[in-house]
Amino acid sequence: MESIYQPVADLILRRQPCVALTGAGISAESGIPTFRSKGGLWEKFDPTVYASIEAFRGDPSKYWSIRGEFIRNYDAYQPNPGHRALAELESMGLLRHVITQNIDGLHRKAGSRSVTEIHGSLREIFCIQCGKEYRAPNIPEGTPPRCECEGVLKPNTVLFGESLPIQALETAWREAGGCRVMLVIGTSAVVQPAASLPFIAKEHGAALVEVNLDKAFSNADYFLEGKAGTVLPELVSEMRKQS
Ligand code: NAD
Ligand code: ZN
Repeated sequence: MESIYQPVADLILRRQPCVALTGAGISAESGIPTFRSKGGLWEKFDPTVYASIEAFRGDPSKYWSIRGEFIRNYDAYQPNPGHRALAELESMGLLRHVITQNIDGLHRKAGSRSVTEIHGSLREIFCIQCGKEYRAPNIPEGTPPRCECEGVLKPNTVLFGESLPIQALETAWREAGGCRVMLVIGTSAVVQPAASLPFIAKEHGAALVEVNLDKAFSNADYFLEGKAGTVLPELVSEMRKQS
């Protein structure tokens, strides 16, 4: 019997380059909660109060008070089979780049090398007063954590109301516009400008393959329903059979 993964495996083998766009869903199986799904963080906490740059400047303790609900200790989280499958595809020469909205660093931990983190990373935090950089797992005690100069520390991630790092954005646009297949994995596609990347890819003639529990892209050419940690390894094993 033909595997449901076979047409997508064929597509990726035939049409290169392939680029992936990932969202919170790919890290859900690593134990990191998504934001907008049912029971997600933004049902409990209003992001404009807890995760916007204006709110952070006004009262940073709000952000830091819920940070532990999301990722308490950066080093404690491990990549899952979904992240590892993408790293494997890259090493097979079949995935040129990963554009991720995630700030958890799990793609790199899984071994992906060509990664753009368009919303930054929790890996570093820095003092908003003197700019000194710290390593995220060594967050000083107290809320909000402070630098030795008493300035407040902020993670190197994009909060609501902040602009995206321009270089990362340019890479993302270039990769989206230059790919012939885009894998869109575990994103609800509501956060701009990330949500427009699949449209850019499509406009330039790429085929879209969505991997999600629920379909978010009506213009996807293929929809692989299920958990990223199950679907992606199945897809890679199908490609190994064919290549
Ligand atoms: P989202 O929370 O809005 O949506 C998550 C999507 O993943 C949904 O479409 C859901 O159906 C799907 N999903 C859930 N579990 C899945 C699984 N096991 N396999 C496949 N799909 C699954 O996430 P988003 O679109 O990425 O946007 C949220 C924003 O918040 C991002 O831009 C990101 O910066 C940030 N965020 C990051 C992390 C992280 O770093 N791990 C986690 C939450 C949110
Ligand atoms: Zn400082």
